[in-house]
Amino acid sequence: MNEDPSEFQELLRSIPPVNDWLNEPAVAACVQAIGRERTVKALREILDGLRQRIRVGERPDVARFVAAALAERFGKNGSRGLRRVINATGILLHTGLGRAPLSEDALDAIRQTAAGYCDLELDLTTGQRGRRIDAVRDTLVSLTGAEAATVVNNNAAATILALKAMAAGREVIVSRGQLVEIGGGFRMPEIMAVSGAILKEVGTTNRTRLSDFEAAIGPQTAAILRVHTSNYAIVGFTQEPAAADLARLAHARGLVFIDDIGSGALSADDLPATRHDPTVAESVAIGADVILFSGDKLLGGPQCGIIAGSKACVSRVEADPLMRAFRVDKLTLAALGATLRSWYEPSIRNRRIPFWRMIAESIDSLERRAGELAAHLAQNGWNVQVRSSEAFAGGGSLPDEKIESRAVVLSSPWPKGVASVSELARKLRQGDPAVVGRVHEDAFWIDLRTVAAGEQGLLIEAVASVVQDGHDQESAG
Ligand SMILES: *Cc1c(COP(=O)(O)O)cnc(C)c1O
Repeated sequence: MNEDPSEFQELLRSIPPVNDWLNEPAVAACVQAIGRERTVKALREILDGLRQRIRVGERPDVARFVAAALAERFGKNGSRGLRRVINATGILLHTGLGRAPLSEDALDAIRQTAAGYCDLELDLTTGQRGRRIDAVRDTLVSLTGAEAATVVNNNAAATILALKAMAAGREVIVSRGQLVEIGGGFRMPEIMAVSGAILKEVGTTNRTRLSDFEAAIGPQTAAILRVHTSNYAIVGFTQEPAAADLARLAHARGLVFIDDIGSGALSADDLPATRHDPTVAESVAIGADVILFSGDKLLGGPQCGIIAGSKACVSRVEADPLMRAFRVDKLTLAALGATLRSWYEPSIRNRRIPFWRMIAESIDSLERRAGELAAHLAQNGWNVQVRSSEAFAGGGSLPDEKIESRAVVLSSPWPKGVASVSELARKLRQGDPAVVGRVHEDAFWIDLRTVAAGEQGLLIEAVASVVQDGHDQESAG
């Protein structure tokens, strides 16, 4: 670069010394959050980096460079932790983005429970020791219609625990068409091995008959397991026995029928699906002895695994020593209880639980919000269109069910400071809050179904800052 050397020296000299930075709001916030010593150390490194950039001919805005570099290291208020993300993917239960957002009721319950003490394991009537699950047990029982229920850390833990308690050292029969792998290392054969139960596979990938199960039952058999094939569908020449027939067979031969239904809708009403996931109500109706499902999929609550079923089976599960290792904390119980209470009335659930609110939002409403967002972005110089798009429940729920949606689509010509769609996606991902959308046909898709109305302002700011900070963020990163 053909720069004037005196201008270059002057820019270097103009950088204030470390002590002068401590009153800058972004830096002062950092001192408040992580202490002076760590902030000063980070500042020295950042200012060294800044001088390097200037020496090689870059001309970043000094104050912005420092603020961006601090934010990059520590987040906006000094605490890096998990970063807030605006989910513009249209995937409602995105496992990478934390699955179900919680309802206001759940958040209030967490706050109230966490800020002080609570009756987690103390029965306030008798003064005796109580059980932590009791706070949600009655609600679970009345909503599912099962005789009994308990809660553990997630559905993977629920499955291990149920198999161990019901069948350790004995055989569990499963169809070869249901030996699933769910994202993040949940593979049924491995889960089975960990539990100590012995996997007995029957049938083939595409066809398994009731007679295959019948023929496999022997003196070592303890249970029949049905696993919902959450994240795939076997199509074409296929056959699986109905769950009701499996339950009947199990009971006729003195076995336990375990039903891993996965996503855990308590009932099917209002689900947009043609081929909906098995519901808890259906599983109870066919007489499953143990029903396993997640709390943070279609239920719309916190991460946890729910085990519902007969009193005898649930008691056996709760008596297992592993229950202690897989138990949930008070915050999960608070959030789960509040989420469940919204399920008594579908209209309340659809208003109050974010997943159901997102699923239920009308196309008119999405179209209107997309129009508003597009108008704002067009004013800021973006080439923008509103297009129809397809959202998905995600999290292995309703895998082949497209949910009609609307997206705001950004494409070239790009404003100054953005070179390509992949650069735009990267910058949005690295912002604070981060924005994660979909790159498709050389354009950036912002699906409105997963962007809450209250997040649109932040989203507009995030997109605007990609252009403003175009050069500085590059330098700071
Ligand atoms: C999602 C899922 C699991 C795993 O549940 P986590 O709560 O993520 O542990 C297990 N089985 C089925 C059928 C699932 O859909």
